[in-house]
Amino acid sequence: MNDVYKNAIAALPPLRDVIQAQGLTATKALGQNFLLDLNLTTSIARLNGDLSGLDVIEVGPGPGGLTRALLMADADHVHAVEYDARAVEALQPLVQASAGRLFVHEGDALDIDLLAFGREGCRSVIANLPYNVATPLLIQLLKGIHARGSEAAKFMLLMFQKEVADRIVASPHSKTYGRLSVMAQWLCQTKSMKTLPPSAFTPPPKIHSAVVRFIPKARMDTVPFATMERLLAQAFGQRRKMLRSCLKEYAPLFEAAGIEGTLRAEDVTVQQYITLAGLIEAAS
Ligand code: SAM
Repeated sequence: MNDVYKNAIAALPPLRDVIQAQGLTATKALGQNFLLDLNLTTSIARLNGDLSGLDVIEVGPGPGGLTRALLMADADHVHAVEYDARAVEALQPLVQASAGRLFVHEGDALDIDLLAFGREGCRSVIANLPYNVATPLLIQLLKGIHARGSEAAKFMLLMFQKEVADRIVASPHSKTYGRLSVMAQWLCQTKSMKTLPPSAFTPPPKIHSAVVRFIPKARMDTVPFATMERLLAQAFGQRRKMLRSCLKEYAPLFEAAGIEGTLRAEDVTVQQYITLAGLIEAAS
């Protein structure tokens, strides 16, 4: 059975022909930089091993290069959310070839509860994200993981501009460590898995890209998402200032959180932010 649908996918026209036939010329406003090399999309799809038993959620399948690889890597089901109606149309032959494994949903991924797709305990998210909305999409996914717990997804493999990927995985005491690092590392183990040059994409963007793997953590804290967001916005909003000045009203809680008031936002560990946010919540 597997071979039947794999043969049907392998027999589909090359992605360049799909793009041409559908007039799917890349639109910058939709962050469209396509991956057309199936060896490359296969290596991305398999970065965390084969996908059998998993329901994969993909944001922005475009002409379907990564989608084909997800299906060939044995994903049980793929739920692909695409904004561009031309791409939704172009994906229909792949839907047919997938033997009921691929579901394409037309819409704005920012308006959709992505982690509602797929079966509990079997979900993963794998996507070459549209760069223009990659950060809000990540925050939305992290919010979903916060609400649902570590069972929300087994893992996520998400492609960002390399500069954003570097911020996500950054450690304290570095210039790239910021809000995104703390939010992501609060809820997930993060690791940069693969860097891609501009030439990997059609059309090539100006910047390098990188795939980050997120593995949701079992959390011990009960800090609300909004409390952490507010704390980090305040701390990193004035990152050159000492904490005793930019987080003045929380200074009485610093000692219990093991934080020196003379530190700057970039010197505070993720665990210290979690402790401080918990104390703020308890005091409110
Ligand atoms: N996955 C394809 C690939 O790797 O070749 C395309 C990736 S391209 C970087 C981003 C895709 O996201 C495009 O197909 C674009 O139309 C789609 N997209 C952009 N904004 C979106 C949104 N808000 N919701 C869903 N899809 C979106």
